[in-house]
Amino acid sequence: MFWLNVDLSLGLCKLHKETCRHCKPIERSAKGLNENKRNGGWFNFDSVLEAKAFTECNNFKCIWQPCKVCKP
Ligand SMILES: [Zn+2]
Repeated sequence: MFWLNVDLSLGLCKLHKETCRHCKPIERSAKGLNENKRNGGWFNFDSVLEAKAFTECNNFKCIWQPCKVCKP
């Protein structure tokens, strides 16, 4: 399982493995879980390809960036 952190305030779409210590999918007022809010959200996927396709078709103004710690 992978989690994509769409951070609209930083302009980053960062992908993590579920087990990564930087992977903290938490529902917040400005950031949703599988829901895009004001600052983005965390979205889960079964594969890297699905996460990438989701990022491209939503046209987020973000840089795609796989996490350097967990290397998804
Ligand atoms: Zn990571």
